[in-house]
Amino acid sequence: MQVAELAQMVVARDRRALARAITLVESARPDHREDALRLLEALPKDSQSLRIGLSGTPGVGKSTFIESFGMMLTGEGLRVAVLAVDPSSSRSGGSILGDKTRMDRLSRDPLAFIRPSPSQTHLGGVARRSREAVALCEAAGFDIILIETVGVGQSETVVAQMADVFLLLLAPGGGDELQGVKRGIMEIADIILINKADGDLKPAATRTCADYAGALRLLRKRAQDPPGYPKAMMVSALAEQGLQDAWRDISTLVDWRRREGFWDATRAAQQRYWFEEDIRAALLARLQTPRARQLLDALGGQVAAGQKAPALAAREFLDTLGKTAQDDV
Ligand code: GDP
Repeated sequence: MQVAELAQMVVARDRRALARAITLVESARPDHREDALRLLEALPKDSQSLRIGLSGTPGVGKSTFIESFGMMLTGEGLRVAVLAVDPSSSRSGGSILGDKTRMDRLSRDPLAFIRPSPSQTHLGGVARRSREAVALCEAAGFDIILIETVGVGQSETVVAQMADVFLLLLAPGGGDELQGVKRGIMEIADIILINKADGDLKPAATRTCADYAGALRLLRKRAQDPPGYPKAMMVSALAEQGLQDAWRDISTLVDWRRREGFWDATRAAQQRYWFEEDIRAALLARLQTPRARQLLDALGGQVAAGQKAPALAAREFLDTLGKTAQDDV
């Protein structure tokens, strides 16, 4: 199939075309990459979904939440896409997200589209492909795109750079310490959801929620937040409680940001971030080619033997690399 035709079918909301298009952007083959870039270029740029990032450690209830929250949204007639950014798939060969029989009901919902995480060798690759999958889902007319990640390492930052709103899912904690949630993650969260606020866990959830509400108040005020945000609230994904409230608070936040110009400004900044990130990734990739390694070894040897000054050798390396054929970006 031609790229132009594939683009048309994605825009016409053909689910198989969308799945195929995502497979194309996930491919590492250079010829696929060329097609993927042309495909992305052929997409209309005017559609805007609400992109919701969601993070939480394994077991906190992400899939349960996405299933019930997603079902609530499709119940309102909204089209929902679910994507995963899974940094674990590279290390373990398996993934924490996406490949279990998760979200059983949602996966059968005609208004929903669930895509497991691509397996890639590094987070940078996963990030780019996820971002492109977001663009494809957006072109395919999804109203909401949920981008899920596990609460480890750098992946929240990556997801936050492709989301309009960022949710952090936590479980009720036993003690009064803040569950070792890193400050950096707190700082990117717009809404902290204390999940499992049901049954025996309700009192602990209430305490945890109060703790986090307190901690959020201590954070530096961000320009992109209306009064009362970021906030902490309780939900039960299992009992399907608090989900409407969470949705209402997300909508309030998003409406405010749109009105105040933060939506457009944030998206513009994100585009620029990804532009620069792609350049960084491509430059790093060029350092890994056999030719670059060879040159590094040769010049490195001369530097180590005191035959060449490091700065001079570095310049020679960059000049030589710059003259070699263009690599893919
Ligand atoms: P994930 O690893 O973050 O995707 O977590 P899961 O959605 O797989 O949930 C982990 C476990 O927590 C499962 O046994 C769920 O049934 C349970 N769980 C999820 N949400 C809730 C909830 O709201 N209340 C209670 N009590 N259990 C929940």
